[in-house]
Amino acid sequence: DLEDQYDLRRQLHNTIQDLKGNIRVFCRVRPPINNELDDKELCAISFPNETSLDIRKSRESVCAISGRVGDVKQEFSFDKVFSPEASQVEIFEELAQLVQSALDGYHVCVFAYGQTGSGKTHTMQGTPNDRGMIPRTIDLIFEKIEKLKITEWSYTVTASFLEIYNENIRDLLEPNSNYDYELRYNEGRGVTVTNLKSVPIDSARMLKALMEEANNNRAVATTDFNKHSSRSHAVTKIHLEGHNNLSRASYSGSINLVDLAGSESAKTSAAERLNETKHINKSLSTLGNVMLALHNKDSHVPYRNSKLTFLLQSCLGGNSKTLMIVNIAPFEDCFGESISSLRFAAKVKEIKTCAKKNKTYGHQALLPSNGSQKK
Ligand code: ADP
Ligand code: MG
Repeated sequence: DLEDQYDLRRQLHNTIQDLKGNIRVFCRVRPPINNELDDKELCAISFPNETSLDIRKSRESVCAISGRVGDVKQEFSFDKVFSPEASQVEIFEELAQLVQSALDGYHVCVFAYGQTGSGKTHTMQGTPNDRGMIPRTIDLIFEKIEKLKITEWSYTVTASFLEIYNENIRDLLEPNSNYDYELRYNEGRGVTVTNLKSVPIDSARMLKALMEEANNNRAVATTDFNKHSSRSHAVTKIHLEGHNNLSRASYSGSINLVDLAGSESAKTSAAERLNETKHINKSLSTLGNVMLALHNKDSHVPYRNSKLTFLLQSCLGGNSKTLMIVNIAPFEDCFGESISSLRFAAKVKEIKTCAKKNKTYGHQALLPSNGSQKK
């Protein structure tokens, strides 16, 4: 019958997704803009095929004998590599499949990683004329839900927007509240944030209006927005609850879109150590440690060592589909940071996890939606 057909289609879709791996890594190199080329040199970056990239520090063809590290070509390969000409549409094509997975009951997490100025916000948010992954995801969710409505499926969508700055959570829909935002682990619902405003959404338009509000609130109340945004993580959480009116099966999935803090702040310079002591960006360095522990299949994964990794626990471990988009600025003076981003990304790419969807019948949970990792 109809549900079987849907189930088959879903299974096929997700089998294909699983074959692609549950943690995927894309790399996007941004173009120079405006008059950046007036005072900056470009690295030599080439794209031999759609999954690899070669990078040298200088575009001058200096001989390799000179011994300068930057002159040696370094090669990286990822699940997909996007050159500066790549459009938002091309990148979203790859991400669109994950929207279906979230509707099918998976936890999906998309990270934009990279140093400040590498194009993270452009990729996630974009501009009104060149929309990024978040507004495109919102449109696609509602497009798909409208189609599914014709069948016996109905969905409820809720959204919340938050920011993590210096290990403090701030609700971007209630920027002036005095609530405590604590992370709680709940067997059935996974990790939740106490007091976080979660808004039921009934249209793409409404969700995009909230997104704008959250963006505006992010900038407000900070004296130095650039510094603030380069050190904070902005998280868009969209929760999707699907219900089959005939079989009473329910799917509970989510999409988390994360514009990470600038990766350069993961390292503490002497000046920063003096100023802001301990955790300049504990969340970002813990994210690295969590990825490493998953990679090494350690029995203990330090999810709880930072707010970000605790919050996204179920998106990082077994029960999830993760996409990391590593953004690269094309300039010579960014070379060192670019190489460390590329190396981090290469590590992440090696992680293998096993995702399962969160399906329940009636009110009884068959599968707890926790993030336990299967080997
Ligand atoms: P980040 O969020 O990583 O600090 P931004 O997204 O703000 O970096 O990008 C830095 C600048 O480069 C911005 O002015 C942005 O509009 C521009 N930019 C980034 N990526 C692209 C791109 N793919 N195409 C055109 N402009 C881009
Ligand atoms: Mg940014």
